[in-house]
Amino acid sequence: METILVLAHTENDGSLAKPVREALHAAATLHKSLAGSKLVVGLIGDNVQAAANSIAACPATKYFGVTGAEFIQSRYASDATAAEAICKAAAATVVVAPATSRWARVLPGVAQRLGGRADTHVTGVAVAEGKISVSRWYYRQRMEGALTRTHRPWFIGIDPGSQEPCECGAGTASVEVVPVNLTDAAKRTTVIGIREPKADAQTIRPDAQLLFVTGAGWTKKQADGQTHLPEAEKLILGFLKQSLASLGSSKSLVDLSGEGQTVLPFLSHLNQIGQTGATPRHPKGLSTCCHGEEPHTVGWRFIGERRAVNLDPNCGWARGKADVIYVADAFKVMAKVNELLAAGKT
Ligand SMILES: Cc1cc2nc3c(=O)[nH]c(=O)nc-3n(C[C@H](O)[C@H](O)[C@H](O)COP(=O)(O)OP(=O)(O)OC[C@H]3O[C@@H](n4cnc5c(N)ncnc54)[C@H](O)[C@@H]3O)c2cc1C
Repeated sequence: METILVLAHTENDGSLAKPVREALHAAATLHKSLAGSKLVVGLIGDNVQAAANSIAACPATKYFGVTGAEFIQSRYASDATAAEAICKAAAATVVVAPATSRWARVLPGVAQRLGGRADTHVTGVAVAEGKISVSRWYYRQRMEGALTRTHRPWFIGIDPGSQEPCECGAGTASVEVVPVNLTDAAKRTTVIGIREPKADAQTIRPDAQLLFVTGAGWTKKQADGQTHLPEAEKLILGFLKQSLASLGSSKSLVDLSGEGQTVLPFLSHLNQIGQTGATPRHPKGLSTCCHGEEPHTVGWRFIGERRAVNLDPNCGWARGKADVIYVADAFKVMAKVNELLAAGKT
């Protein structure tokens, strides 16, 4: 009989982030399909009662918590100790956890301490003939593999954005506190602050409805023989501001800064989409001034509807990689789109 543990950390304000609800959804799916299984929740944070209450209507029968100020910040040693203690208290055989950056760092180590196994970047869970199987993508999202394991405990890290978040409502949960005494060695690392871009400079928005991709064409000489970087910057930022889209880029465009050319200052390698970049998940994508070559478009694997604006009717997008291609000047198209957005017409 499996005991499925959803293992999560709270946010600094004590709430649970969306990836936790996604992991909970995956775990509840397993629990529903596995006769005789138990679903339990383990939470780590300063005070986890509010977080437990926020999901109290989920099918979990028990809540465990490791609490205290020492567990607010992400720190490998304290997180791993707390996670290990909860896994033991729950006697978990399957641990389903959101692959937040904090947990992705810790959980394989906890699996090792408990003699278990860990699978990362899981995007799907299922039960067939009483056996759990998980799926994930390989070779830069080109091939999907499904695997099962008999070894326990089995740690399953769920990729954020890959599941529907659990809609389970609030209530009152009874949390069993699991005592953890941290040694001084486990508290050596101190988080003294977080450096992050200002909210309006944050162009990567994983939850956005639209991925807006910019390619090197924005920096190329246009029909008048000139480049138009200030105009490109204004059009791109204007569109992002009004649409709240997430900003992606081709490798060529982000590489230009490394080559010392004048480029768009708000782009970094973090925006890069593709084989050596990111593979984000958005319902829609719009590519502009980007050729649509395979190493780039492989990063569009999880984009629902794809559209591209390119001057070249033979660009890569036109070869079956986009649902709609507009053979047009992106400078003109985006100027018009921004105008319509400003007038509230789209
Ligand atoms: C091992 C390897 C890994 C790679 N990994 C990645 C990766 O992760 N991500 C990635 O993106 N690339 C990657 N690449 C590079 C990739 O093959 C392409 O070189 C790159 O994506 C091209 O970028 P681009 O389309 O922006 O530029 P270009 O190829 O220069 O295309 C610019 C496009 O802009 C269009 N254009 C110009 N002006 C306008 C206008 N006014 N309106 C509309 N269209 C206009 C042009 O018609 C052209 O199609 C990789 C390559 C290799 C070898």
